[in-house]
Amino acid sequence: EVDNRGENGPIQPTDGDRDRLFAQFSEATDLDQIVSLFRELCQETQVDPDGYESVYPSLKAGLTAWKPLSIWELLDARAELGVYETQNACRGRRVLVVGAGPVGLRMAIEVALLGARVDLVEKRSGFSRNNSLHLWPFLITDLRNLGAKKFYGRFATGSLDHICIRILQSILVKVCLILGVRVHVGVTFSSLVEPTASTGWRVSTQPPSCPVNTLEFDAVLAADGKKNSLPGFKLKEFRAKLALAITANFVNGNTQHENSVPEISGVSYVYRMDFFNSLSEKYGIELENIVYYKSETHYFVMTAKKPSLLKKGVLKKDYNDPKQLLSPSNIDTTALKKYTVEAADFSTEGALPLTFLKNDRGEDDVALFDFTSLFASENAARIVERKGRRILLCVAGDSLNEPFWPTGSGCGRGFLGAFDAAWMLKRYCGGISPLELVEEREALFYLLPQTTPERLGKNLTGYTIDPKTRYPNLSELVPPGDVSHLYDTDNPS
Ligand code: FAD
Repeated sequence: EVDNRGENGPIQPTDGDRDRLFAQFSEATDLDQIVSLFRELCQETQVDPDGYESVYPSLKAGLTAWKPLSIWELLDARAELGVYETQNACRGRRVLVVGAGPVGLRMAIEVALLGARVDLVEKRSGFSRNNSLHLWPFLITDLRNLGAKKFYGRFATGSLDHICIRILQSILVKVCLILGVRVHVGVTFSSLVEPTASTGWRVSTQPPSCPVNTLEFDAVLAADGKKNSLPGFKLKEFRAKLALAITANFVNGNTQHENSVPEISGVSYVYRMDFFNSLSEKYGIELENIVYYKSETHYFVMTAKKPSLLKKGVLKKDYNDPKQLLSPSNIDTTALKKYTVEAADFSTEGALPLTFLKNDRGEDDVALFDFTSLFASENAARIVERKGRRILLCVAGDSLNEPFWPTGSGCGRGFLGAFDAAWMLKRYCGGISPLELVEEREALFYLLPQTTPERLGKNLTGYTIDPKTRYPNLSELVPPGDVSHLYDTDNPS
């Protein structure tokens, strides 16, 4: 044990202590641990963790070993991009981001780089999703440039183009904290509170003791997943044919043998009928597609045909209503596990040990989801004005456009939507008229569902929040029609 009491008072922590702490912070994947190590790091370097824009420069001054330096180099290069106007684009503005999913965290980073004071609330107390996300090529470049490889050495190694969701969240929350985003864990956004004669726009959260309840905000940007909690963003439903997807995570022992088993980046029935027919003959399992990714876990996602789920006893009774069909009482979990193991075993030619990983509830990590209906928000943004005070409201991520997991579009379109929201904020702070702004945003939103890696700009390193760096077909933007309802004001003139 080191005695840190010197003759002239406490001995200051050494560079070695700080480096060790920074190394622990960089390697941590548990949300609680990340936040508490960050607080400790701030204490050791005498940085005020609630100082917003002062956090990053102060940390930089206090941490000068090679590892933090290599991260500062990357973050400086990003922060110096012209689009952020030396962090003056939104300086002095207060922004609340709702949701610490990958999209909310990525959006918070951009907003902090614009110079705004960002608070982020996340209702859950930890990151627990073992499932993997497919990474479009621009995401790999983007995340690498934010230091993903420094925080997670295995990031995008070789041809890997996917990442475990909770690992992605752990990388992004660290960048948020470093850039001065105040992250409030276990806090649920409940509602907006309209201005009074003496106060601006506020929010109400659970628990009410959270300090964000005392703040006034210029904008609330929500990426709170499927159930959108911001008012004024109606969801529309897209019904397709019945689509039932199974996800499963198995323990990855990282043995040489497991590492040598090839991944399946997406096999569909139409392209590999022989494969799917053999699976059907051997086990009576009928799939439309299957994906296998190896990361922290052996992750499988597959779309299963209803008749085979019924025949194999996974679904006990047939119902037309997908909700009833997938109600917990209609699913035989033992049969679901058997079905999944057989499909995973067949598709990897019996090469994996296939022991289920436990999820955060301590159960085997396998689940059956319904994608028959997908939801999208009717609009991407609103501006509300009461008593002469305005607030910008935006949604991004799954709240804006729910993805079909087997195609892996969630993170790609999610990040694009986050960049679009940050761009809107910049334009908002730049003083563009509200109607012009919502019109611009809605026109961009129509592009989003059509985006694919092939339809995006080719200069991946040049992507910024400016839409013209990402969407090559901006000249074809169609005006969205009447958007006057998206500027909601109590000012009759
Ligand atoms: P999310 O990742 O859903 O994050 C939203 C966050 O907001 C959550 O952390 C939530 O707790 C928080 N939140 C919600 N309401 C509030 C509130 N009122 N106040 C504060 N915080 C709030 N995609 C795939 O491609 N493959 C998969 O296998 C896959 N598996 C998934 C498994 C689960 C259980 C879930 C929920 C999603 C899965 N997804 C999967 C979807 C994928 O995670 C998202 O597309 C991607 O993470 C981007 O989503 P997001 O950040 O917009 O929302």
